[in-house]
Amino acid sequence: SAPSYLVGLIGAGVGPSLSPPMHEREAAVSGRRLIYRTIDITDLELPAESVAELVPAARRLGFNGLNITHPCKRLVLPVLDRLTPDAAAIGAVNTVVFDDGAAIGHNTDWSGFARSLERGLPHAHRDRVVLLGAGGAGAAVAYALLMSGVRTLVVADLDADRAAELAEWVGGRFPDTRCESADAADPGRLLAGADGLVHATPVGMAHHPGTPVPPELLRPPLWVADVVYRPLRTELLTSAEERGCATLDGGGMAVFQAADAFELFTGRTADRDRMLAHFHEL
Ligand code: NAD
Repeated sequence: SAPSYLVGLIGAGVGPSLSPPMHEREAAVSGRRLIYRTIDITDLELPAESVAELVPAARRLGFNGLNITHPCKRLVLPVLDRLTPDAAAIGAVNTVVFDDGAAIGHNTDWSGFARSLERGLPHAHRDRVVLLGAGGAGAAVAYALLMSGVRTLVVADLDADRAAELAEWVGGRFPDTRCESADAADPGRLLAGADGLVHATPVGMAHHPGTPVPPELLRPPLWVADVVYRPLRTELLTSAEERGCATLDGGGMAVFQAADAFELFTGRTADRDRMLAHFHEL
C-alpha cells in the first residue's frame, strides 16, 4: 500500500492554523495519506520550553516530522541532532524531520519567503531594503533577503537590541553585504532611499490592527511586502497600493513554507500553484 505520513504542529494557539488542511489536501490529491495534527501548548497548559519534551515524544510515537511555530522555534534547537546550514544561520527551526532516528531541524520560513518574493516581485530593486521586525519571522526574512541579493539590509524593531543582534548575527554570514540596524521610531529616516520595505511585526493582524508606517511615507518606487497573512490585505498593503506601490502579501510565504515542509516530510514534490489556490479557498 502507499506510504502514509503522520505530522504535527507544535506552538501556542495553533488550533486555527491552516497548515492541517494545506498539507492533508496536497497529500490527498496526489493519492497519499497524511494526517496533520495540531499540538497546542496553550490548550495543553504547557510552557514554551515543553517543546523539548514534545519533540522526542512525537518521534517515539511514530511521527514523520513536525512543524514548530511561535514561541518554540528557538527553544527546539537543543533537542535536535542536526541543523541544516540555513536553520543554523537563522538560529530558528520551523520544520523537524525524523530520519532514521535522528531529528533534523530545517527552516522553510526563509525559503518560503524567498520564493514568494521571487514570484510576486521578480523585478523589485534590492539595493537597499528595510526590514521592520526582528523576531522569529524577521530572522528568516532577513536571511531570505540576503540570499536574494539585497545589498544593504536595514533592520529595525521597537526592541533596538533585538534589531542590532539580528543585523550582526545574520549579516556576519554575508560578508559582502551591508547589514545595519536603525531606529524604528523614525520611519521617515528609515525609509529614505529604500527600494523596498518588508514588514514582519504583528501590527495589522486581526487582533493587532493598525499600520506600522505612516501612509504618507509609502510612495513608488518603494515596494512593500507584508508577512502578516491574517488578514491578507493589511492596512499597510492597502495604503501602499492606494499610493501606487507594488506590494506582496504574506500568503505566499505561508503557502511556500508549507510546500517546502511537505516535500521534506514526504519526499514528494508539492504542487505550489495548487496549494496556493487551495489556501485562497480556506
Ligand atoms: P515575534 O513576536 O517573534 O516578533 C515580532 C517583533 O516585532 C518583535 O521583535 C517586536 O519587538 C517587534 N514589533 C512589534 N511591534 C512593532 C512596531 N510597531 N514597530 C517595530 N517593531 C515592532 O513575532 P513573529 O513570530 O516574528 O511574527 C510576526 C508576524 O509575522 C506575525 O503577524 C506572524 O503571524 C507573521 N508570520 C507570518 C508567516 C508567514 O508564513 N507569512 C510566518 C511567520 C510569522
